[in-house]
Amino acid sequence: MATKTAPIPISEEKLEAERKEILRQYRGLMRVARPHLHGEDAKRIKRAFTMAQQAHDNVRRKSGEPYILHPIAVARIVVEEMGLGTTSIIGALLHDVVEDTDIPLSTIEKEFGPKVSKIIDGLTKVPEAMKRYQSAQAETFRKVVITISEDVRVVLVKIADRLHNMRTLESMPREKQLKTRAETKFIYAPLAHRLGLYSIKSELEDLSLKYAHPVEYKMVQDKLDASKRTRDRFAREFVKPIEAQLKQRGINFEIKKRLKAVSSIWTKMQKQQIPFEEVYDVFAIRIILDTAIGDDEKVACWHVYSVVSDLYTPNPSRLRDWISVPRANGYESLHTTVMSHRGQWVEIQIRTRRMDEIAEKGYAAHWKYKGVNERRDRGIEQWLTRVRESIENNDMSALEFMEDFRANLFSDEVYAFTPRGDIKVLPKGATVLDFAFAVHSQVGLKCTGAKVNHKLVPLTQEVHNGDQIEIVKSSKLIVNHNWLNIARTARARNHIRYHLRKQERQMQDEGKEIIARKLKQLKMPFDDKTITQLMEFFDTKTASELYALVGEGRIPHTEIKKFKDEIHAHEAQPETAKKAKELIKAKHERDTLIVGADPDIDYTLAPCCKPIAGDDIFGYVTTGYGIKIHRINCPNAVQLMASRGEKIINAVWANDKRKRYDIGLKIIGTDRVGIINDLTHTISQQHRVNISGLHIDNNEKGLFEGNVRLSVVDRSQMDHIVEEIQKIEGIVNVFREGEEVQA
Ligand code: MN
Repeated sequence: MATKTAPIPISEEKLEAERKEILRQYRGLMRVARPHLHGEDAKRIKRAFTMAQQAHDNVRRKSGEPYILHPIAVARIVVEEMGLGTTSIIGALLHDVVEDTDIPLSTIEKEFGPKVSKIIDGLTKVPEAMKRYQSAQAETFRKVVITISEDVRVVLVKIADRLHNMRTLESMPREKQLKTRAETKFIYAPLAHRLGLYSIKSELEDLSLKYAHPVEYKMVQDKLDASKRTRDRFAREFVKPIEAQLKQRGINFEIKKRLKAVSSIWTKMQKQQIPFEEVYDVFAIRIILDTAIGDDEKVACWHVYSVVSDLYTPNPSRLRDWISVPRANGYESLHTTVMSHRGQWVEIQIRTRRMDEIAEKGYAAHWKYKGVNERRDRGIEQWLTRVRESIENNDMSALEFMEDFRANLFSDEVYAFTPRGDIKVLPKGATVLDFAFAVHSQVGLKCTGAKVNHKLVPLTQEVHNGDQIEIVKSSKLIVNHNWLNIARTARARNHIRYHLRKQERQMQDEGKEIIARKLKQLKMPFDDKTITQLMEFFDTKTASELYALVGEGRIPHTEIKKFKDEIHAHEAQPETAKKAKELIKAKHERDTLIVGADPDIDYTLAPCCKPIAGDDIFGYVTTGYGIKIHRINCPNAVQLMASRGEKIINAVWANDKRKRYDIGLKIIGTDRVGIINDLTHTISQQHRVNISGLHIDNNEKGLFEGNVRLSVVDRSQMDHIVEEIQKIEGIVNVFREGEEVQA
């Protein structure tokens, strides 16, 4: 947040005082950094400080203080609260330099090397000119996230920057405060949480609450202050017997009292609709064990648990073992809630010194202890893999990306098991299809269903904690578009999208070949002119769409023959088009075209939505092929109406019961013996209805999917048939071809 004001005249004494303050802050930074520095580090930091100071010289923050104090404060957060080293300190000192001053990135690279310049580049906002999509904020966010997989320090410095801006938000105008706090709550606090920065996450949430709901924030804060003495006394009494027992057993430990963040208390009050006084876990007791290297940390923690639960009765439903299965962000701890002698529930967190350091400092400590707990490392690695997977798909807009990122990576997670007992961690709301992709992409792509705890379920089934899931596979790939509505994880969605695109390209290639072959047969040239005419004839927007429709068989190649006949008819009678236009004009004046009543009107039923008598329809005047009749709810209709409104005319059906219309019904049902018989029987019982095609397949959910072709008189007859089919036992749904909604 680089909001500055133009230099204003300031007295020499004030300037001198400011110079002293800058130096004092810089020395403070060096004091906390020094223990972590080696070799040339201090000199390099000094050079970065000097560069930043010159670059931001004479610039002030909204609060009036010299701008340089901000990067110094960010650098201090980076070392003191995140435990990061020299590269990050330099990155923090220079983080606003490229964006706000004349110094180019190349200078930074020359001075400080590629690592630092990469960090600064990641932290520089997307320039105005590059903001391709609606949201510049989203674009900038995407840029920050993309760097997570390259260098996680970019995000850490960004969070430190945001933390300092939140701490100094007071001097900003109200609307800026609201925008900044919303962004913080929406993105930065969850991101900090994800990276295991617990105390920073809590502070960001507290500050966010403070600026959004100042009154409520103050109310909770006041109540916390007022109850402090009682709480302290209670806690002292409560831990006394625990301390005595642990000492007696020769355990080295430290006990801390942890106060819950204001925002968490407030959230709990809101969620459970309870007053402050009824929030039982306002504080927690944390027992930190000083285990020696090589000690079994898990055994040590459970030992303490057994001591505690001998003294106080634990609530079995509130036991959380994040040591055996650490959270995805690497958090390890044993949590239990016990009943105090005064009848109050108290949460106790048991962990070792190493676990505590990771919980407090997050990512930096993670690397320090890499390799100690394999499961925990895997958790973080899996998360980073998920980050990488979600950013690999770059054809999403920045806003979609942010949505996807949030949905996948910030949500709570659930744990489920493979039949062999391997744990898969998935975001909450994930389905068994996601689980299949988590096992392996080849398992996902062939997944037809799953057995959850030995019971057969559809792919849409949500995964719950502790589920044991066995995926049912088919021998071939069965990906379809509907899967995008079922899959939640970026991993699954990316695989599905990739394969759908691949299929689509195959269909296009096939379609193109079919058209080329057909045109050759018909002795017509395969050239731009013919393709354009075909596109117009079949109402497609692009040539690839035309190819795909032919490839998928949705435009039967016999239609191409019809196309030739039309072309010939028009070429033989050049007057036809003109005549049609005149007739349309005449009809237009009467406002409505009566389909089927006037033999002079040259109309065809659009192949995309295949209207039948009784459907709500409209006419679309094409150049050269008469009028195409579309259904009002045709997927192409909105576009035609929106872009070519002048070519639209009203249309209704003539009352003609002699004509028959071809329709397709898609029928979904359970795979019951005899159901096909019931189905054909029901249809053929109908007056004058013929089945011209029947195709049954098992779909991805283990249900059967039937495609039936029928000829009917009109819409009301179709509706009646659909109704009858729905009455058959085991039928789940009936759709009309080309319609998303139920017929
Ligand atoms: Mn900044």
